[in-house]
Amino acid sequence: MVTEDTRLKSVVSKAGEKLEKARGLRTVGDLLRYWPRRYTSFDANLGELHEGQYAVVVADVKQAVTKEIRRRNLPAHKAKSTMLTVTITDGTRDMEVTFFKHWGHIDRLVPGARGIFAGQVGKYGRKWQLTHPDYQILPPDSDGLDARRKLLPIYLQTKGVQNWTVVDSLNLVFDQLDEVRDVVPPEVARARRLPSRLAALRGIHQPQRWADVEAARERLRYEEAFILQTALAQRRHRQSLEKTQGRMPREGGLLAAFDERLPFELTTGQVEVGETLAREMARDTPMHRLLQGEVGSGKTVIALRAMLAAVDAGGQAALLAPTEVLAAQHYRSITAMLGDLAEGGLLGGSDIGTRVALLTGSQSTASRKQALLDAASGDAGIVIGTHALIQDNVQFFDLALVVVDEQHRFGVEQRDALREKGKQPPHVLVMTATPIPRTVAMTVFGDMETSTLRELPRGRSPIATHVVPSDKPHWMDRTWQRVAEEVRAGRQAYVVCPRIGGDEKAGADEEPFLPPEVDEDGNPVEAPREMASVYAVEEQLRETPALAGLRIEVLHGRMAPEDKDAVMARFTRGEVDVLVSTTVIEVGVDVPNATVMVVMDADRFGVSQLHQLRGRVGRGQYPGLCLLVTGSDAEPAVTRLNAVAGTNDGFELARVDLEQRREGDVLGARQSGGRNQLEWLRVLNDEKVIDAAREDAVALVADDPELTQHPELAAAVAERLDEEQAAFLERG
Ligand code: ADP
Ligand code: MG
Repeated sequence: MVTEDTRLKSVVSKAGEKLEKARGLRTVGDLLRYWPRRYTSFDANLGELHEGQYAVVVADVKQAVTKEIRRRNLPAHKAKSTMLTVTITDGTRDMEVTFFKHWGHIDRLVPGARGIFAGQVGKYGRKWQLTHPDYQILPPDSDGLDARRKLLPIYLQTKGVQNWTVVDSLNLVFDQLDEVRDVVPPEVARARRLPSRLAALRGIHQPQRWADVEAARERLRYEEAFILQTALAQRRHRQSLEKTQGRMPREGGLLAAFDERLPFELTTGQVEVGETLAREMARDTPMHRLLQGEVGSGKTVIALRAMLAAVDAGGQAALLAPTEVLAAQHYRSITAMLGDLAEGGLLGGSDIGTRVALLTGSQSTASRKQALLDAASGDAGIVIGTHALIQDNVQFFDLALVVVDEQHRFGVEQRDALREKGKQPPHVLVMTATPIPRTVAMTVFGDMETSTLRELPRGRSPIATHVVPSDKPHWMDRTWQRVAEEVRAGRQAYVVCPRIGGDEKAGADEEPFLPPEVDEDGNPVEAPREMASVYAVEEQLRETPALAGLRIEVLHGRMAPEDKDAVMARFTRGEVDVLVSTTVIEVGVDVPNATVMVVMDADRFGVSQLHQLRGRVGRGQYPGLCLLVTGSDAEPAVTRLNAVAGTNDGFELARVDLEQRREGDVLGARQSGGRNQLEWLRVLNDEKVIDAAREDAVALVADDPELTQHPELAAAVAERLDEEQAAFLERG
């Protein structure tokens, strides 16, 4: 019996070997998942074809001519062969099809024979040709009409594997295959009017008409969404069974004291989210909440208030940040905001105060030991750190709340690793400044409830953004003049570069930037350019007359942590005018006095990344200016930059970004290396499918939380989670 696990070779022996060798298709299942790249219908006449097109036509053999040829550079017995040139026609145009070896063809391609021919349309002199030809002779008496009516799937062209090889192998497989594993329960499929998986596979590989392909695709999209949503529904279900301790702020406690000294009034949104968090943290099931809010919308203060409530209730809070720069900044700004409230147990500190500890991978052994001790003893109510927080040797006295900042840098696994450090499951707050469209939130954060901060604190100034072509010297001059003007007015500037420079390798916390644009065949669309590097730009700026006398410093991920800290601290204090850096400043850095940002080779950054970057300016009372310098006029870079210059709406930009990026990235694996990707589902467009799948998955999991009645589905969910785990490990 043939199943998906049957070795392909045993069904289609010779073709199977070829397919395994050339395409890595080992089993019947592999072949079934070898999706056509597109379809062709035989509607075109030969006379309508144009050069370069891959065409499939029904035509008659008009003439077949052989010629002896001799090829140089080959041993004598191989050098001689008989070439066959066949002329085919459908009455609108003649076309030549050449085979360098005649055998196997000459008996079939006889004048009068009718066949389906496929190949690349070319022109040699005045003669039209079909190169890399591939054909199938139709039975005598056939008028080709049947064949013409059908859709032909076109698979990836590779040497040694012709389209027919794939098509014929699939025909044989479908003849012998009775069943395939199907994760969607039949009653669900029926209710949604979806074909079975087997029917869908036939619809993809052997369609009679477009509607077959559409129905099949719809089913495959649904299936993918259904697996994802089942995984999320199971996660939510497990979470709902967890018990923990409710944490409520004390009257006259830390939170109350903090609120009293807050130098600004909370926005309505901040108040609302704060109330939601307080309510959920008071419950005895752990909170799982995602807070998304535009860059600069004031998420940190919300997180801090929740952390203080946890401390008031006798617990501790951990704040996980993606980079050392950001962790250090959180530490600085939180201790500053708390003032003597952060000096608990110290002379002169407040009685109700607590301590804040910082834990990063590269701090000195002594300060690390102290931080570990403070976390374990509970002396530190708030522990801020990078990935170092997740390590085994980090212990808490009583972890009550986990806050993850800029979640898009972390996986679910990291969130979980930190959660496990609680005696009982801690409450979880995840924050992101990358706005997430609803369907993406449902797919990526489907196990969390979502809050959104839409307004910015009052008095925030807008950011103006312009694209600057780097090949126009006077534009560049003007750019540096603007920087100088801002500095003269007492403000500060960032200059961001895609590379560090020197003999670099990318540093640990550098974000990989976009590779050069390539066309469909993977060829670069423009000549390679040297990308601006931090060190080269620093040197250039020092020699720019407009900037003479300005205090210029550099910051990047490969610097020693103390140095990074020191530079950032000087910039924060206003002792540096121009900071030339990599994207280490992308997330969270908050220096309100910085008003202008110049992004060099801006075409190398993604849309959301640029939006994040420019969020570093315009954070205070002065208007922000962002200049996107580019030497590229190639698509889609131009579209990307114009989109960023055209709007400050992060949600709008998130859409543009997602449309441009591979869908796999939506699932959080930014550099997923081909794994963890969605094959059919387009998270942005398939809202209906996702809604339906979610509804069905929730109902199914409510009935059968461990999927014992649905082993195929359980296996598919496990496989999906494995892939995510693997992608996560790769990302490290
Ligand atoms: P993000 O949401 O990007 O993390 P932050 O939390 O860093 O934003 O806040 C940006 C700046 O706005 C900080 O300097 C913060 O102190 C300030 N801020 C936050 N809330 C308010 C408010 N309600 N009124 C005025 N300033 C605020
Ligand atoms: Mg932030």
